[in-house]
Amino acid sequence: MTGIRTTCAYCGVGCGVIARPHADGSVGITGDPQHPANFGRLCSKGAALGETLGLGHRLLHPLVHGSRASWSDAVAVVAETFTSAIRDHGPDSVAFYVSGQLLTEDYYAANKLMKGFIGSANIDTNSRLCMASAVAGHLRAFGADVVPCNYTDLEQADLVILVGSNLAWCHPVLSQRLMEAKQKRGSTLVVIDPRRTVTAEAADLHLPLKPGSDVALFNGLLADLYRRGATDSRFIFKHTSGLAEAMLAARQWTLARVAEATGLAEVPLRTFYDLFARTPRTVTAFSMGVNQSSAGTDKVNAIINCHLVTGRIGKPGCGPFSLTGQPNAMGGREVGGLATTLAAHMQFDNADHRNIVQDHWKSPRLAEKPGLKAVDLFRAVGEGRIKALWIMATNPAVSMPDSTAIAEALKACPFVAISDVTAATDTARQAHVFLPAAGWGEKDGTVTNSERRISRQRAFLPLPGEARPDWRIICDVAKAMGFSGFDYESPAEIFREHAALTAAGNQGLRLLDLGALTGAGYDSMAPVQWGSPQPFASGQFSTPDGRARFIATPVKASPSHTGAMTLNTGRIRDQWHTMTRTGLVPRLFTETAEPFIEINPWDAEVLGIAPAEIVEVRNGPEPTLLRAMITSRVRRGEVFAPMHWSDTNSAAARVNRATDGSCDPISGQPELKLAAVRVGRFSASWFGFGVTVSSPNCGSPYWSIRPVMKGFAVECAGVGGRPDSEGAFRDLMGLTVEEADIAMAADRSSGSFRFVAMSKGRVLAALFVGAGPVAVSRSWAASLLAQGHHTPSEVLAGLPRDACADPGPIVCICGSVGRNTIVSAAKRFSGLNAVCQFTGAGILCGSCRPQVARIVDERTEHVQAAE
Ligand code: SF4
Repeated sequence: MTGIRTTCAYCGVGCGVIARPHADGSVGITGDPQHPANFGRLCSKGAALGETLGLGHRLLHPLVHGSRASWSDAVAVVAETFTSAIRDHGPDSVAFYVSGQLLTEDYYAANKLMKGFIGSANIDTNSRLCMASAVAGHLRAFGADVVPCNYTDLEQADLVILVGSNLAWCHPVLSQRLMEAKQKRGSTLVVIDPRRTVTAEAADLHLPLKPGSDVALFNGLLADLYRRGATDSRFIFKHTSGLAEAMLAARQWTLARVAEATGLAEVPLRTFYDLFARTPRTVTAFSMGVNQSSAGTDKVNAIINCHLVTGRIGKPGCGPFSLTGQPNAMGGREVGGLATTLAAHMQFDNADHRNIVQDHWKSPRLAEKPGLKAVDLFRAVGEGRIKALWIMATNPAVSMPDSTAIAEALKACPFVAISDVTAATDTARQAHVFLPAAGWGEKDGTVTNSERRISRQRAFLPLPGEARPDWRIICDVAKAMGFSGFDYESPAEIFREHAALTAAGNQGLRLLDLGALTGAGYDSMAPVQWGSPQPFASGQFSTPDGRARFIATPVKASPSHTGAMTLNTGRIRDQWHTMTRTGLVPRLFTETAEPFIEINPWDAEVLGIAPAEIVEVRNGPEPTLLRAMITSRVRRGEVFAPMHWSDTNSAAARVNRATDGSCDPISGQPELKLAAVRVGRFSASWFGFGVTVSSPNCGSPYWSIRPVMKGFAVECAGVGGRPDSEGAFRDLMGLTVEEADIAMAADRSSGSFRFVAMSKGRVLAALFVGAGPVAVSRSWAASLLAQGHHTPSEVLAGLPRDACADPGPIVCICGSVGRNTIVSAAKRFSGLNAVCQFTGAGILCGSCRPQVARIVDERTEHVQAAE
């Protein structure tokens, strides 16, 4: 059947998707070959979108104080509570915390309500956590928040520098485009990242610098370019200002000093500086490793300085390129969803801008100053200054730094309204009112990707239950508060009003001008890029004098943390944010099954931590418990852990428990890449792994639960009372079927206990307990519930019938190809392509290709070493 063209719900690449709903309720998902972001490609997450659309996890009607309520009652409670807080305590006593998952039209309505009608700018977005430093850096350098590059620049560049970006996992389709272009053009890839990620392994040069030392590195590059005369004097003279001040801060950064500050040897540093100096077509792309830092804005400007001094901006194949994390972080920036911007790239400190916005909105009470940025906003909640808070489409109790304090602040807040697709989140537990929102597949609107391309997101499923689109919920509350200007009938009306605002009083002063999109054609709108073909191509910037500004970026001393290790947090290939959607898909757990921490072998040895043991990470009283992955991919003294797990699917793996709320002083973006933590071995006396068709009851200090076909898998570990009896097994596995036949095998001397519950030849649950980490094939065990005809002894043996058939941990989730299969193919075939062709790995979505390459390389190195 004909598909519906829409856009992926996840990262900032903004891939086009074709959705084909089938009669049986399933939805086929393919990449849109016509979409200019992906040309038909999708990564593992995008390809699995169809598996997230079930309604099992959805809350489908409003709740007020935990009880089902009508929409009119729920809306009235929200409107009355906000109105009375504003009346009694002023407009700054209320706040919205919104999300880069919202569509532009939702964002616009929320921003208009808060800044134009409530009269406060206390609306901030979770995009503060991902790219606020890039926004602040752009504003300082260019006078406007404009990303000056296109995806084609990455393909046309001769040198691509990725700073703090694990592109292969976090922007997989863009990574594939880059790697294909690299192969064709022979371009050079430099990766600057403390970790040896799969992206770094594909680089020609990897610079594993000390965390947080990027400003020194780029100051050194600026000084080096200046010293050797590799600058564009004409561009500097005609189109920039402030070079002298920037050089004052940079000139002291000799190669030797940079080497000392970054921990890098002088030879690779010299190689990097030489490459940059001699390659006119250079793109420096950066993401969270730059932005999520207490010096994030300076890092951004230190990078931009090097592009300005060489005139490498506004031309094909070059520029500083901020890659956004979320699907609509850019749309949020365009409407003004950050507390620090007004609307449509207009600012609070400009009286003309305030007048334009006030006129356009017919606003009775326009906010006059910036509002609270995310960390300050939740601090104000905790201190009782915010009396009513509305959280839309985000899960701050997991994603914010110092997340325990966030949960406590929410608990103490007199009124919390939440609009979201699910109530099964750590944040939703604190809601006084829950407003069920439409999900991806049910919503109409637009999103803007990292290259300023606006794409339509189109509904292809009916609204379930009583769910409503976010824009409509916001407008219903606005109307119930007595405000006019929210009588929209459709998202198209909102978009046209937004587009008209970008054009209002613009006269070429602001690059964001969507005036051409105010007419009809919203429904059929094809992806359209503003600032096209290349922002700043004329050399005219958005500053008052039209010149780009060099910004002096003196290096600030990092705080010293005696005896502590440095925690770096980030994302993994197959999960998205706090797993409220990807966490529903069994195959997205087959590559990484549980929360883990990467720790260097030297540190592991010193701390007495063995592979797969449980590690305790502390920054405060509550420990975070994670599975040890011992690897030289992290530097000594540093550990890395993913940010995805929450209290909803683990005992204590919410990693932001261990990050603190220190922020960049300019952007307000929290430091999520560098927290001082104490790391030690958690002395578990037993470890367990099980699968069950029921909902498990875990009470041990360490556990994590994930979905598998027809049930759940549980990893657990504890101290003292291990599950060594039939009753404990039943209890842990949540078994309520009395007639289940239970078989047990025990070796009390070694502390090994195995259980299986069966009914009519079908496995209902199996549990493997040992004194050490349980060595049972997870991919085999996860299939037990879905496949019949097992015998108890076979399950208790903990091995597939044909042990040789164990594929090992799954690497390619599209083809279910495991590590063991790839390793054995790598023994028979030479080269990545041959291994992929033989095994089927890496030939569908391609997201696993860098990991297959890693396995092939390891095998090749092993053979060479043996020879
Ligand atoms: Fe979605 Fe993957 Fe494309 Fe990102 S790269 S938009 S997650 S399909």
